[in-house]
Amino acid sequence: MIQENKINYFVTKIVTHAPNIKTIYLECRDGTGKAYTPVFRAGQFINVYFPETGTPEGKAYSISSAPHEDILAITVKAVGEFSNKLHQLKVGDRLTASMPYGYFYTETETSELVMIAGGISIAPFRSMILDSLQKKPNRKLALFHSSRTYDESIFRDEFAVLEKRFPNLKVFRYVTRDKVANVGIIHERLKIEDIIGTTDKAKLDIHTREFLICGSINFVGELWKGLRKAGVPEDVIYTESFFSH
Ligand SMILES: Cc1cc2nc3c(=O)[nH]c(=O)nc-3n(C[C@H](O)[C@H](O)[C@H](O)COP(=O)(O)OP(=O)(O)OC[C@H]3O[C@@H](n4cnc5c(N)ncnc54)[C@H](O)[C@@H]3O)c2cc1C
Repeated sequence: MIQENKINYFVTKIVTHAPNIKTIYLECRDGTGKAYTPVFRAGQFINVYFPETGTPEGKAYSISSAPHEDILAITVKAVGEFSNKLHQLKVGDRLTASMPYGYFYTETETSELVMIAGGISIAPFRSMILDSLQKKPNRKLALFHSSRTYDESIFRDEFAVLEKRFPNLKVFRYVTRDKVANVGIIHERLKIEDIIGTTDKAKLDIHTREFLICGSINFVGELWKGLRKAGVPEDVIYTESFFSH
């Protein structure tokens, strides 16, 4: 719990991606009322507080905007009381949260990054992809996103534009529940063989790759074990778990 870190954020914009997913843009204000964005790294999160809920320790939300965008955004899926309170926020509302923190990022800027996301856990990868393309436009990046529904396969248009502009970025979308006639959507469960196979096809060198997995504990655990079994060294796998099933 990081009580001493609590600061006020103000909602400046809200974007609805799906009926149950919104991106909420936040700014801070200094003593004179001037807006500023706290310093953060791609992959970090803020801890949000709603003291009126039974969760005094708050809940974590990854930052989905990139540092160079000079705005802090979180992308939230409404699933329970806390996330629904975030969905009820309106532009101009105040929100108490922590400064950005967390260690879900790699230190090198030259490795080939393979990002694997389950559902809403795509949020920190938007930040990482934009950040990486801004700093190292030729860095090889692969994102594997698995979601239950097509609606939840978010950031589609934005990533499609980026893939055209940066041939070194490859996005693979898996949708397990809906069957939509959409080119580029894979209607299967994401498997380790796909990740290893596809990244090999994308000519990612196993010796310079790093893997980041984000999702439920089960999702992260299963993929971590799969990568290890496929011979990926432990020290090049980074994980973040969002929730417990
Ligand atoms: C480091 C970290 C970063 C996180 N970043 C984000 C983020 O960027 N965006 C975001 O929306 N959440 C994120 N979370 C999850 C967030 O902190 C809450 O746990 C989540 O919003 C659910 O809280 P709730 O009180 O609304 O629902 P709860 O009452 O906790 O859960 C309601 C039900 O939904 C299930 N559930 C919880 N989360 C999900 C989910 N994501 N998908 C499907 N079912 C779920 C629960 O198991 C439960 O059955 C993050 C968590 C961590 C630890």
